[in-house]
Amino acid sequence: MENLKGKTAVVTGAGRGIGKAIALKLAELGANIVINYRSSSKSVEDLIKEMEDKGSKAIAVQGDVSIFAEAENIMKKAVEAFGSLDILVNNAGITKDGLILRMKEEDFDKVIEVNLKGAFNCIRHATPIMMKQKSGKIVNISSVVGVTGNSGQVNYSAAKAGIIGITKSTARELASRGITVNAVAPGFIQTDMTEVLSDKVKESTINTIPLKKFGTAQDVANLVAFLASPSADYITGQVINVDGGMVM
Ligand code: NAD
Repeated sequence: MENLKGKTAVVTGAGRGIGKAIALKLAELGANIVINYRSSSKSVEDLIKEMEDKGSKAIAVQGDVSIFAEAENIMKKAVEAFGSLDILVNNAGITKDGLILRMKEEDFDKVIEVNLKGAFNCIRHATPIMMKQKSGKIVNISSVVGVTGNSGQVNYSAAKAGIIGITKSTARELASRGITVNAVAPGFIQTDMTEVLSDKVKESTINTIPLKKFGTAQDVANLVAFLASPSADYITGQVINVDGGMVM
């Protein structure tokens, strides 16, 4: 894959899981990394060290993407530290699962605020910077359940479907400015987010996956890195699944 040397990438929710794998992959390709995290600074310090040991430059910026001003601060810090903002990966996300019959209003609102509004907030503040540069790559992490729906995930699937809408609308708006916007829709990826699911759910899910295995954070990071690279210059407004064939 192509070199991202000199490019600056912001990855939201990069302290662990898929975001961490994406940040490490982009660092490996030479990009300067802005690791956004919400709370756990110890693991982020280790991550910066790991990147620096490999010869990459990285900073950490604490911030809750669901808060408009905090999202603005993350983008500002990227430009202050590295002089540009070339890649934005909207990865931060949470789940608060429950059946519609019992779902609390606050659990619906919170998931929409972080997963959907968080992506809007970051794109909103990255856009003026990227427009001025006349270039940029935005990659939004959606989910296959944003397309298929999922029992117990009304809030999450609504947010992830919304991400697809944001991706397509912004792709249309920003194409003439040299900015591409794509979404990656993972299936079942082994991270802390899915670790909490019962063995019964895991077993029944694996039966729906033609490749008969769960994905890794690395599988997602590889696709994100491709979409963030010049190899993907002619790809915009797309939703690409990384799901072992779960949805086709
Ligand atoms: P994870 O829970 O391990 O990581 C999510 C990260 O987002 C954490 O580091 C968390 O601190 C951060 N975060 C949460 N709220 C935040 C906020 N308000 N501001 C900033 N950061 C915040 O989960 P993961 O599995 O690595 O998921 C990463 C992304 O991939 C999420 O958007 C998730 O919805 C999506 N996804 C995951 C799977 C899967 O199977 N694991 C499948 C489809 C989509």
